Amino acid sequence: MALIRELGETMTIFDNTLDADGALIVGAGLAGLFTALKLAPRPVTVLSPKPLGMGASSAWAQGGVAAAIGQGDSPRAHAHDTEMAGAGIVDHGTAEGVTAEAVARIEDLARWGTPFDRDDFGNFELGREAAHSANRIVKVEGDRAGWAIMQAIIAEVRRTPSIRVVEGITALSLARDNGRIVGVYCRRLGDRYSEPIYIRARATILAAGGLGGLYAVTTNPPGVRGHAMGMAARAGAIIADPEFVQFHPTAIATGADPAPLATEALRGEGAILLNDLGERFMPAIHPDAELAPRDIVARANFRQIQSGRRVFLDTREVLGADILTRFPTVSKYCHDAGIDPVNGVIPVTPAAHFHMGGVKVDERGRSSLPGLWVCGEASCTGLHGANRLASNSLLEAVVYGARIAVDIGGLEPARELTPFKGIEWDDAEGNKAEEVLRNTIAVQELRRIMSDLVGVERDAEGLKTALRQIAHLEATAEQVTSAYLNMTTSATLVAAAALKRTESRGGHFRLDYPEPNENWELHTEMTLGEALAIRAGA
Ligand SMILES: Cc1cc2nc3c(=O)[nH]c(=O)nc-3n(C[C@H](O)[C@H](O)[C@H](O)COP(=O)(O)OP(=O)(O)OC[C@H]3O[C@@H](n4cnc5c(N)ncnc54)[C@H](O)[C@@H]3O)c2cc1C
Repeated sequence: MALIRELGETMTIFDNTLDADGALIVGAGLAGLFTALKLAPRPVTVLSPKPLGMGASSAWAQGGVAAAIGQGDSPRAHAHDTEMAGAGIVDHGTAEGVTAEAVARIEDLARWGTPFDRDDFGNFELGREAAHSANRIVKVEGDRAGWAIMQAIIAEVRRTPSIRVVEGITALSLARDNGRIVGVYCRRLGDRYSEPIYIRARATILAAGGLGGLYAVTTNPPGVRGHAMGMAARAGAIIADPEFVQFHPTAIATGADPAPLATEALRGEGAILLNDLGERFMPAIHPDAELAPRDIVARANFRQIQSGRRVFLDTREVLGADILTRFPTVSKYCHDAGIDPVNGVIPVTPAAHFHMGGVKVDERGRSSLPGLWVCGEASCTGLHGANRLASNSLLEAVVYGARIAVDIGGLEPARELTPFKGIEWDDAEGNKAEEVLRNTIAVQELRRIMSDLVGVERDAEGLKTALRQIAHLEATAEQVTSAYLNMTTSATLVAAAALKRTESRGGHFRLDYPEPNENWELHTEMTLGEALAIRAGA
């Protein structure tokens, strides 16, 4: 039983120890791969559970990357919008710094081959998304930014000799030595029986994504389930703002898991929300109607659905048949589900989409644990506050990826990569393993608890019930594997922090405390110990 209790806590050095020869990056989304490229020519090993490009939210991004690049726009205006969306707890310095570095990082992505949409003069064609005061979303073919950026970056990674990619491997626990993170314990995806591999590293960069998949209804890929935050918390890292989960208002309601996304850019184009009585309900709720902040639109949709209505996105008048060419990804999702967006409306539902919280890092991407840097959605930099401004997350990933590379580059001497026994990706085995992990009753139960009790609307009673049920799951699950414990750990942190924050702000809405409280205009900082104490008292 309880493999993790042997693994996570005692950290025996196993025979099958490998040396990363320098930096080790856990996760191969935009955060991980961009950091690897920025570290070149310093050697780096990147771990990816799936073949590169698969299993990462980054490749599914539809809108694009926010950058104050257009005429009349400025980083200051972008920072201001970021702070307004973040509902009072965005770090001012972080917002100013990230938005100021945006253009340089977009240039990196373009230099590495991202075919951003441009006009006849070569200027970026910029999209608009909710709560941005200017057109500032750098995009590709309308809604294919994530896919195109990842294709370009992956090609560049493959061309870079200092980057060693190990596919088909998943990290279970961080390895500690005298309080310092010295690498990770990992396993071939799905191989639960052989001894874990210890990969030793002088610098470990956790870039294993967010936690949307902890919820039953999510837009995130199946493997993105809070593993990064769970691993770091179990190793003792300080976690910031875990209660702030962003629910996207318009996942396409096809019953598919994960739920495909209908990008906010559609509402940016003027698409409207209707209920099944044909009523447009957003104008009565917020002056910006469908372009109100995401949490407000998500709650409005949630309440319609709770009251027995269905909700639809109507693009017919503003886009007509243009949706097919201007939003090919959304059109394909609709087509696959038998929905005709040209002549009909698109059924939508709120879905867990993005985690504003994560492992607390400083401006260099350093966590509270020496030897551990965290990048991308796994981290909490303070940029998003209580609510992320659309398209700021890919930006955050590249800005911090570059900063982390500079920081590690200053500490780490260049060295040669030695041959490393590769792990062959076996598609059938890997997919089967993921399917098993996805569908165990304990995992399904955990996801149900999160959606029902720690979701769009929360209250003390529900959160306490959730914490008790998560504890029960941990105590009774047939196999408490490290992967499962990473998930329950993240779930515990979200629910405990949500219970502690007795107010509503941004993505965190408490029915029993529906207003913001100025005493809570601050970040949550929590260790796993504190979260477990809250859970024990629930
Ligand atoms: C449908 C969708 C649309 C979006 N649209 C936009 C947008 O337009 N603009 C924007 O800015 N943001 C958007 N976002 C958010 C954005 O895509 C993510 O926040 C961002 O891509 C996160 O990048 P990342 O590299 O941190 O994580 P990911 O891209 O999720 O990558 C995580 C990596 O870690 C790996 N991993 C997970 N667990 C482990 C483990 N245990 N061991 C090893 N590796 C592991 C995964 O396989 C993956 O390779 C969108 C998100 C979704 C889901």
